[in-house]
Amino acid sequence: MAHYELRCRECGKTWGNQPRSICDDCFSPLEITYDYETLRAGFTREKIAQRPPNIWRYSELLPLPQDYRPSLPVGFTPLLSAPHLAKELGARKLCIKNDAVCLPTLSFKDRVVAVALAQARAFGFDTVSCSSTGNLANSVAAQAARNGFKAWIFIPADLEPAKILGTQVYGAKVVRIAGSYDQVNRLCSQIADEHRWGFVNVNLRPYYAEGSKTVGFEIAEQLGWRLPDNVVVPMAGGSLITKIKKAFDELIALGLVDARPVKFFGAQATGCSPISTAVKAGRPDIEPQKPATIARSLAIGNPADGHYAIEAITKSGGWSEDVSDHELVESIQLLAETEGVFTETAGGVTVACARKLYRDERISPDETTVLCITGNGLKTTDALAGKYESETAIAPKLAEFERYLESTLDVPETVEA
Ligand SMILES: *Cc1c(COP(=O)(O)O)cnc(C)c1O
Ligand SMILES: [Zn+2]
Repeated sequence: MAHYELRCRECGKTWGNQPRSICDDCFSPLEITYDYETLRAGFTREKIAQRPPNIWRYSELLPLPQDYRPSLPVGFTPLLSAPHLAKELGARKLCIKNDAVCLPTLSFKDRVVAVALAQARAFGFDTVSCSSTGNLANSVAAQAARNGFKAWIFIPADLEPAKILGTQVYGAKVVRIAGSYDQVNRLCSQIADEHRWGFVNVNLRPYYAEGSKTVGFEIAEQLGWRLPDNVVVPMAGGSLITKIKKAFDELIALGLVDARPVKFFGAQATGCSPISTAVKAGRPDIEPQKPATIARSLAIGNPADGHYAIEAITKSGGWSEDVSDHELVESIQLLAETEGVFTETAGGVTVACARKLYRDERISPDETTVLCITGNGLKTTDALAGKYESETAIAPKLAEFERYLESTLDVPETVEA
């Protein structure tokens, strides 16, 4: 028997293991619970350290079928110290968790898809599917190809071209829907009732969500098996932030790290900020919004885990911020110029929100703070349209270059009396 199963977050009823995300008794979301008693004995830092550097080193805390053999080394992305960015933000101990280089498709979604597809196979699906704001589409398409699934991907029609192409290239069937992500998602729930497909973020959602915990496991291990004081996390459906918290709680429960208070900070674009609006208003639940932001990967107006994200943030003593499209674009540039990391719009949101959190003294400079950079800038180059002029070409001659160099030097101003 598996050492994990589905359990209702509200009434506590257990549901074994099956493709299901809602409790039929009380209509609350299900999540995975583990037999922590058994795990406490055998799952040690030493054991983990001997394993290859990818998410599968934490297999005991993931809902994987028995003897599952992963086909890809996903995750274990760098945790970078960010001294130059820190200086700009007025911080001193700042780190970046760089999932802009997560494999195979350059976003943290590779983690959730890897875990969801492990169960999709076990549940007997031969077709996998998702509703997506872009990165999930890329990841399901790629990993379906790698693992021999057929893939049907549902997206809002006006997604960034790079994210559409980066789905089609893997041979996935891409269905563009003339509507918002929230409408696409509702449609997928209906399709899941009609077709025996594994929708990673619908009927497989509890399994999928567990993959996000690996961000938290890695942060703790990369800090030398210590928890940070603060994490700043971009939020779409609100799942990632709650699962980083779950990861930290599990590590404490298993004695792998010392307990300490960690504050959770959410980041959204003002044009789609249902979670941060609720946190600022002191409300326990979100009011759905109609998204209007270039941060498409975060543009979920009715976040499934909104309530739990609000709870994780407020109970920890954290906060949630939101920033304009202009601010997020500036922060994409700032992160690239200070630390050499090119992130997508969601990463711009995270950095810009962190700036506000330091400015407003919600985060203290001397605390260890981790910014979660969740996706790659090459997928959202449209956000930088018009920011850089392409210079006129010069002839391949040294003299030409010298003249060009001259022209770029600042001409000293002549001060006239
Ligand atoms: C999906 C996504 C998020 C947010 O994830 P949730 O778990 O839905 O809150 C953050 N960043 C990027 C780049 C994403 O694609
Ligand atoms: Zn229930």
